[in-house]
Amino acid sequence: MSDTPSKPLNFLEQIITRDLDGGITSKVITRFPPEPNGHLHIGHAKSICLNFGLAERFGGECNLRFDDTNPEKEEQEYVDAIKRDVSWLGFNWAGEVRYASDYFDQFYEWALHLIREGKAYVCHLSAEETKEYRGWATKPGKDSPYRERSVAENLAEFEKMRAGEYDEGQCVLRAKIDMASPNMNMRDPMLYRIRKQSHHQTGDKWCIYPTYDFAHGQEDAIEGVTHSICTLEFADHRPLYEWFIDNLPVPAEPRQYEFARLELNYTVTSKRKLKQLVDEGHVDGWNDPRMPTISGMRRRGYTPASLRTFCEMIGVTKSGSTIDVGQLEYCVRDDLNNNAPRAMCVLDPIKVVVQNFDEADFSGAMVQPAHPNKPELGERELPFGRELYIDRADFSEDTTLSRKKFKRLVMGEYVRLRGAYVIKAEEAVKDSDGNITELRVSLVPGTVGENPPEGIKPRGVIHWVNAEDCLDCEVRLYDRLFNDAAPDAGDKNYLDAINPESLRILSGCKAEKGLAQAQPEQGFQFEREGYFCLDSQYSSDDKLVFNRTIGLKDNWGKSV
Ligand code: ATP
Ligand code: MG
Repeated sequence: MSDTPSKPLNFLEQIITRDLDGGITSKVITRFPPEPNGHLHIGHAKSICLNFGLAERFGGECNLRFDDTNPEKEEQEYVDAIKRDVSWLGFNWAGEVRYASDYFDQFYEWALHLIREGKAYVCHLSAEETKEYRGWATKPGKDSPYRERSVAENLAEFEKMRAGEYDEGQCVLRAKIDMASPNMNMRDPMLYRIRKQSHHQTGDKWCIYPTYDFAHGQEDAIEGVTHSICTLEFADHRPLYEWFIDNLPVPAEPRQYEFARLELNYTVTSKRKLKQLVDEGHVDGWNDPRMPTISGMRRRGYTPASLRTFCEMIGVTKSGSTIDVGQLEYCVRDDLNNNAPRAMCVLDPIKVVVQNFDEADFSGAMVQPAHPNKPELGERELPFGRELYIDRADFSEDTTLSRKKFKRLVMGEYVRLRGAYVIKAEEAVKDSDGNITELRVSLVPGTVGENPPEGIKPRGVIHWVNAEDCLDCEVRLYDRLFNDAAPDAGDKNYLDAINPESLRILSGCKAEKGLAQAQPEQGFQFEREGYFCLDSQYSSDDKLVFNRTIGLKDNWGKSV
């Protein structure tokens, strides 16, 4: 194992180490088994990192298997998106993508096997009757009147189900286990139901479909999965998982282990709810940059490395807890701080005219490193001219502002333009309403990369762009999608917690010329503003749209 010895093993790593050492397992095989009924979200990222990560760490393999046993809600579009997301996170699945539906013939054979062994029967109780017969946790269920049918009759009935002679809901195939079991999952669970729907992989070949419970462990067994890792809500299904493995002639004996699902505050992580946000137009698609989907986070500028670091950091446990979304944001910010090239973009521009531009003593453009600590990222050119833009918030006419509080430009005083000259504010030109339309300044010659002469004390450093060749752009500022830390807790309706200010669109922003080369999703630090990337959906050759990935500092809850 390549892990650093100082880090304690999580409980799954302990189990795997024990199994490898004890010769129970020779090669670790895990799987990530999404149902293709929506896009993957941050919770799935945890499961992906866990399953692929364990396989990587212990020299094994991880399969990508679509758990496509329910044709009603599943679509090819989701299959494609899930493959894209897993690859983007940086993981390679073993061999071809697999589908539960690849094994439908085998499941059918195994259903016949259970019938022949007297361990499964076709039941015609209605859904309501079935529920009533099932009892509840403290009340044993009672046997279905169809439970004691002969093998021959069950084979004939099941064949009729398969041949489409019954309608949906008319009958199901059930395992014959124990209607009095304290575990409700063992009270003759359903194995097959009728669904007269086309399936995205098998078309119209089948009108009966296996249930998740009947399919999952057998899929694992067929694929030789050694450690089948799922979330805690399946712990009660484990006895059933084991019952199938014990009662069927399966080629391997996988074991199921459960871990706590990831819950994040200010976030919903349920495909059903995310789908509702999309379907009802509360967001702009599954990949809206405010969505906790992998595609949304990707579009927003989160990096695969930051998501992997986050999943590593939160670890794997057997008891649930809610993680602060700030921890995820920290990982994103840290990765971008270390790796994103710097650039300048003025979000709320006012024009600045350098009145003594003729005294500028440089030739060509200013040169700045792309990243302060990464010379390998090269340099960038910052053209400088008579007309510039700075941010409206970086200038004040109020000369009483303290130097400590306002480290920007004040009338009659000095400020440094990042990577360029020290300038002095001389005059503000206003329109008839008193709004500043232009700022007239003078530059202090000889101050590019040099301290100004004695007596000239710039208040701080501000960002700017050159008016002549800067790029017009739109900037999209995102805030959390929900105002409530637990938007779907208890009987709350998460739609009520939607933050109406989660998206602010700024137009007429001015970006430095070099950003014309920005690639979609490539992260930049816009100096003093935050981390941004080009939007992959709305940017075009004619229009630049940048997404704010995340602010420079954790400003949540503080007024900026
Ligand atoms: P959802 O509740 O969002 O619909 P799901 O569990 O139904 O999710 P699946 O496609 O069945 O979605 O999930 C694939 C895998 O991802 C499963 O092994 C599941 O346990 C895991 N998974 C889903 N949500 C989380 C989560 N929040 N944290 C960790 N793992 C998760
Ligand atoms: Mg599921």
